[in-house]
Amino acid sequence: MPSLLAPSAMLPSGWARDVRIDISPDGTITGVTPNASTRGGERVERVGGPVVPGIPNLHSHAFQRAMAGLAEKRRDPADSFWTWREAMYRVAHAVTPDALGAIARFLFIEMLKAGYTTAGEFHYLHNDLDGVPYADPAEMSARLIYAAAETGMALTVMPVLYMRAGFDDAPLEPAQRRFMADEDRLLAILESLRWHGRNSATLQVGIAPHSLRAVPVEVVRQVAAALPEDTTIHIHVAEQIREVEDCIVATGARPVELLMAEAPVGPSWCLIHATHVGADELADIAASGAVAGLCPITEANLGDGVFPLGEFLTVGGRFGVGSDSNIALNPWEELRLLEYGQRLVHGRRCLSMPEDGTGSVGGALWRAALAGGAAALHQPVGVIAPGFRADLLVLDRDRLAQPEAEEDDILDSAVFGGAALPVRDVMVAGIWRVSGGRHALEEPARAAFLAALRQIAE
Ligand SMILES: [Zn+2]
Repeated sequence: MPSLLAPSAMLPSGWARDVRIDISPDGTITGVTPNASTRGGERVERVGGPVVPGIPNLHSHAFQRAMAGLAEKRRDPADSFWTWREAMYRVAHAVTPDALGAIARFLFIEMLKAGYTTAGEFHYLHNDLDGVPYADPAEMSARLIYAAAETGMALTVMPVLYMRAGFDDAPLEPAQRRFMADEDRLLAILESLRWHGRNSATLQVGIAPHSLRAVPVEVVRQVAAALPEDTTIHIHVAEQIREVEDCIVATGARPVELLMAEAPVGPSWCLIHATHVGADELADIAASGAVAGLCPITEANLGDGVFPLGEFLTVGGRFGVGSDSNIALNPWEELRLLEYGQRLVHGRRCLSMPEDGTGSVGGALWRAALAGGAAALHQPVGVIAPGFRADLLVLDRDRLAQPEAEEDDILDSAVFGGAALPVRDVMVAGIWRVSGGRHALEEPARAAFLAALRQIAE
């Protein structure tokens, strides 16, 4: 395998020029040499722009890509997250296994082209259209594994526990019948998923209790205790104010407060959204080592609220970003909106860093989201250094707001400046998956995606 020669690259020690990156046949970086000169006869592939690590997308529900743009009409003056959820449930009840495979293939290509190189799938469509388990308990989730393998996306798949309709222990509504998975069902799905994923070198498997409204906290604790301590565990928490209020009525505690008190939350956990949190809750999340999984585009789309990022970073918290509802696939925009939300709330600028921090905001956001995303998805990525997987982006200077930018000005230009995706080429595990902005499978994947959309619309 030829080594890469990048005109510049973002290394752990900072930006460097003329960087040679050696990669083993299994896709692991084996050597990084700044200021490299090419000796005669050496096989070196020159890349056409600055190189940064590909970014993990720590929270996605693939099937929701089918409804992107279709829930933007006001049907009720009191439109809210909860009316959006009804529209989402209608789509959830029309997605067959084949349709999910087609949606995921197209979605993963869109993600790769945007610069995401690992997807975290928080997957809760388990049962058939009537709510009956499939003969293979992983019939649906396995489609995500195969779509990832075909498109070259690295994947952490997390089948969801989903047991009740609310904090009052109400049984599942008919509209939630495809989601039902108790502890036994979840363990069966995990076993089958390990078989489906036996040949996938870039696959990780975790679990995801859906939320404290859908899973009692005692069950979250039991399931976590039954699995190895470093199991990847993601959970939606404190996304909506009504959810916080319902939790207080039922338990006397706020959701994050309850989770931190009753479950063994640690560094292998990721708290998705955690939007409505107080100072004590923020400090507890940071002290636990858990990652906050922020999804700014979806959180804005659903009217969730704004996560207090500066306060969280000041107490040492770590975060990553996710595309969640997949209304838009653009990590640069996720980070831009994350910072802009803080600016709109506080009436100040350059806020996505600890209180006493200084420097490039685009650089700080990209580095933090790389580290948090890699930790949350348990993947050896996010750093251009020996031992890490070669998940790399070659940026397109013509699409940067400042085409001649250097070092972190490149990331500021990419995060804050562009209308177009600034990504030219994308490598996952040592294999180019996007070249010149194109993925080899994008045309057949698009045709199958459109066919799936038509079938869902019927
Ligand atoms: Zn979600």
